[in-house]
Amino acid sequence: MTTPHDTAFPGPVKPEHRLDIRAVRRQFPALRQLVHGHPLAYLDNAATTHKPMPVLDTLVRHYERDNANVHRGLHTLGVRATEAYEHARTRVAQFLGARDAGEIIFTRGTTEAINLVAQSYGRTHLQPGDEIIVTAMEHHANLLPWRRLCTEVGATLRVVPIDDDGGLRVDEYARFLGGTPRLVAIAHAANALGTVNPVAKMTRLAHAVGAVVLVDGALAAAHTPVDVAALDCDFYTCSAHKLYGPTGIGALYGKAALLAAMPPWQMGGDMVLSVDDTAVRYAEPPQRFEAGTPPIADAIAFASALDWLADLGHDRIVAHERALLAHATEALGAVEGVRLVGTTREKVAVVSFNVEGLHAHDVATVLDDAGVAVRGGDQCAQPLMHALGLPGTVRASFAAYNTVDEIDRLVDAVRHARTLLG
Ligand code: PLP
Repeated sequence: MTTPHDTAFPGPVKPEHRLDIRAVRRQFPALRQLVHGHPLAYLDNAATTHKPMPVLDTLVRHYERDNANVHRGLHTLGVRATEAYEHARTRVAQFLGARDAGEIIFTRGTTEAINLVAQSYGRTHLQPGDEIIVTAMEHHANLLPWRRLCTEVGATLRVVPIDDDGGLRVDEYARFLGGTPRLVAIAHAANALGTVNPVAKMTRLAHAVGAVVLVDGALAAAHTPVDVAALDCDFYTCSAHKLYGPTGIGALYGKAALLAAMPPWQMGGDMVLSVDDTAVRYAEPPQRFEAGTPPIADAIAFASALDWLADLGHDRIVAHERALLAHATEALGAVEGVRLVGTTREKVAVVSFNVEGLHAHDVATVLDDAGVAVRGGDQCAQPLMHALGLPGTVRASFAAYNTVDEIDRLVDAVRHARTLLG
């Protein structure tokens, strides 16, 4: 079924970059529903995207046919499950531009990936007096693990400020590097503002002072091409559920030499070579970091999501989202009383805003009544909201299946919220 909201693009997108939006939308059953009597306009993609049929089919097919544990069963289903799981690892490596599948560790998502690095790398490599640098625009997932690590090892956290547009103060970052930090943890794209950070340059500068760099790619991976080899970052994280894949699975990329020098984080089955009464020999990475039964079907479906993305054309999705972002920025910016938050040039498809005199939660509730799903609140970035002097924002975020008409409905609903609540 198609909705009346399937439309073509606004202006500057080249024809070869156009997506067939109707065909794209047909692959997403969740989009074919009414919410409060209106066709769903799902604009909360920075929180999580919906899943296309090939991903759902992969999940069902795995459980119907191949369900078995990995790396242990010698029977046919165990071999099939293991092969598909390891193929998924290779697919993620290819997607991120990693040189070797052994540099990819499956995690529950970005949050777990960052905690793994903080607890395994951080606790064994950082000492009292060391410095860790993060930015003021980090999601709690890329802030709190480092705060805890600082408390545990006696290190100091330094937070690079942002400018009025929500861009990073790269001059301040360069100044902070003068303190010769041991570790830098930065968002590739910030979830609350959409700001894309110059991570390649920041990595180069950090390496020049001997710091290890983790890039949080939870949001960026769906909206901008990633090449960890070109970025030269030491760690990169992503979450499948923001990439049209399942929840509960994501990946940590780590340079082989770093992973090899890191102790396990969690202990359990499938991460050892041998155990006796007194000694344990751990498996090599990545197995060393995947204790217990992993989310097998989800990892395999993660690979399906990446195939789906590649078939559609990541560059086309990016071009489509850019057009949507331009339209939303202009149309929302023209609404009286709306203040856009985060207006740097380099952005992914996220528009955060506030409506004068209205709480973000109230605006989001009125939008939901109109069938428009957005996020309203602190965006899991409370320190950022404090720095901006805001209790929160309303955030609309776009994906491959969104349309200009959906954005126009968002804008109409924001106008309605002003009339209703203002
Ligand atoms: N970092 C960023 C920039 C995010 O947008 C998110 C999720 O919203 C996270 C980290 C946490 O990701 P997850 O909840 O998938 O672990």
